Amino acid sequence: MKHEISEKLFTEAQKHLVGGVNSPVRAFKGVGGHPLFIVRAKGSKVYDADGNEYVDYVGSWGPAILGHAHPKVITAIHYTMKDGTSFGAPTTAEIELAKKVKNAFPSMELVRFVNSGTEATMGAIRVARGFTGRDKIIKFDGCYHGHADSLLVKAGSGAQTLGQPDSAGVPADFAKHTLVADYNNINSVEKIFEAHKDQIACVIVEPIIGNMGCIPPKPDFLKNLIELAHKNGALVIFDEVMTGFRVALGGAQELYNLKPDLTCLGKIIGGGLPVGAYGGRQDIMEKVAPVGPVYQAGTLSGNPLAMAAGLATLVELEDRKAYATLEKLGAALEAGLKKVAAQHNIPLVVNRVGSMLSFFFSDKPVTDAASARNADSAFFKKVFHGLIHQGIYLAPSAFEAGFISITHTPDDIEATIFAFDQVLTQLKK
Ligand code: PLP
Repeated sequence: MKHEISEKLFTEAQKHLVGGVNSPVRAFKGVGGHPLFIVRAKGSKVYDADGNEYVDYVGSWGPAILGHAHPKVITAIHYTMKDGTSFGAPTTAEIELAKKVKNAFPSMELVRFVNSGTEATMGAIRVARGFTGRDKIIKFDGCYHGHADSLLVKAGSGAQTLGQPDSAGVPADFAKHTLVADYNNINSVEKIFEAHKDQIACVIVEPIIGNMGCIPPKPDFLKNLIELAHKNGALVIFDEVMTGFRVALGGAQELYNLKPDLTCLGKIIGGGLPVGAYGGRQDIMEKVAPVGPVYQAGTLSGNPLAMAAGLATLVELEDRKAYATLEKLGAALEAGLKKVAAQHNIPLVVNRVGSMLSFFFSDKPVTDAASARNADSAFFKKVFHGLIHQGIYLAPSAFEAGFISITHTPDDIEATIFAFDQVLTQLKK
């Protein structure tokens, strides 16, 4: 498989764009080599500039749950854009999308749309601070909540891949308000609450981590977290930017029957266009401007094209049938990967919740950031490149989740398992 055109384009791109990309993980630094330039995508497949086809497990990092270029989403965008692309004034599509979000997430009594997941978490943290009158927040090692200052402390995703879990440029005076606990370890949270009595505004958590690879919560971890936070007068923010409409229509909170105070969404709700949202209890959200004193605004927030793409996507998911299909495909992929690894005597952990999945080359369970870091990421890099050459496109990092869409077929899954087997065979030689 040739990648000459992608390679040339990357050389050119680096002359004009920082690192040749507009988001760090895309640069392939986590796995080495150069990124693929994608020219087209349809259903479960992406096509690169050299004309190669791949079964895609990146799915635009989560939004593409219906597969790429879903006809109803494309039609909705076309239909909407002929009347204008942005007005900076209210539209009915915002009401419609908010109703659909609230329907799936009953904990979100009031919603604010923004343009990205980063904006959603930034807004949610600000309102939690405004509501409680407290400054400090708790996050978990390895959770990534976007690139706002107070959240780039011990962050996962690209920050992890590039070895910068604490970003330069974040003033120590900001970072000192972010306290870091260990995921799946309620004692670590308890200790922080004890040490900072009446100072903590909120705990923000990816209810299922996706940004250290996929790491599900242990039974009762999230329930205990909510109880502990509330006992201490703090709010709980579920960052469901990745899990919202992904692991169930109502995200992780539906799956585990939990009610956070605030929720952040992104990715799927924009159907591939830039959208984020935060929302939650009415009394908390009423602190946000123009009703309350917490300021947050956006020129393009609630953009009509983005609302239309999001609406078309959620309509397709609402009958929940997609989730049974996704579970079936995910289970088949998990079983296949485990079987192949066992045949090769290679220790492999597969963490999966529905259509969100990661594999770690490890002989121990991966339950938190430390155990994810302990997995053999050097071997992952080799497997990653082997799979690319077999036409399988994974996220270019050992610390990211993979996503399946409803357009993935049993044949795609079988081809992926076959390719995994081929790659492990080659690497053993
Ligand atoms: N929160 C989570 C859980 C995410 O996975 C991401 C992005 O991957 C974000 C927030 C930030 O979203 P965005 O990249 O749209 O700013």
